[in-house]
Amino acid sequence: MGKRKRKSCIYCLYKEGSTKDHLFPRRWYPSSTSSKIQRITVPACRECNQKYAKIEDALFLRVAVSLEDPVDGARGLSEIGMKRLRFSDHPIGSKEYKVRKKAFMELLEELQPYKPESTLDGFGPKPEIRSEFAVKIGTERLLKIGEKIVKGLEYELFGRLVRPPRRVEIYPVYINDRLTPYYEKWQELLDPVKKVMNLGPAFKVEFGTDPCNAETSLFRMRIWDHITIWGWCINRTRIVRTSRNPVHQ
Ligand SMILES: [Zn+2]
Repeated sequence: MGKRKRKSCIYCLYKEGSTKDHLFPRRWYPSSTSSKIQRITVPACRECNQKYAKIEDALFLRVAVSLEDPVDGARGLSEIGMKRLRFSDHPIGSKEYKVRKKAFMELLEELQPYKPESTLDGFGPKPEIRSEFAVKIGTERLLKIGEKIVKGLEYELFGRLVRPPRRVEIYPVYINDRLTPYYEKWQELLDPVKKVMNLGPAFKVEFGTDPCNAETSLFRMRIWDHITIWGWCINRTRIVRTSRNPVHQ
């Protein structure tokens, strides 16, 4: 047998990809997902895997408690989210009590006033709850996870790594989004070349590459039938202006 080539982590690119990272975390799949649906995994180092798992957990919890169940792509997730915050039925001082209470307090501290412009498309005020507060999902979290998923899709769909100068740009869609005209243009670009990957009711990815430049790819990710995230993988020359001249990087 030949020596197996060591795979590197597809995220940081330098450590050994000694673990399998679930591109869409296992916990994110609603129970209505068929067992036949492929759960994509990619090689990742332990550090990246753990780093993303933390963000994925925090993101899941915040989205899950804001979700409504009737949509198939999100079935049962809100119940899971609420359950993970319930600490009153655990003995005070037990590990589970501490974990759940900490998660609850963190979420509480992050509550912010409801603002339509910073609310994710697919969510909105709940007339039955007379509250002007909103759960903070965290744009940073969405950007990091969006970037992770695009890197994973580049690897899974095109068999390639995202190495500089190629990089990922992520755009989560908000209510009243000022970027809407761009999204419409991007959909026009994507439609003639797009392929669709369905990963059960919770995840759908439309993707395509630029016919004139195979290094440029565009992704439209739909998660839990609520959240839409656009992702670009591009090779763009950045122009940095200095006091004297524009310098190409
Ligand atoms: Zn890594």
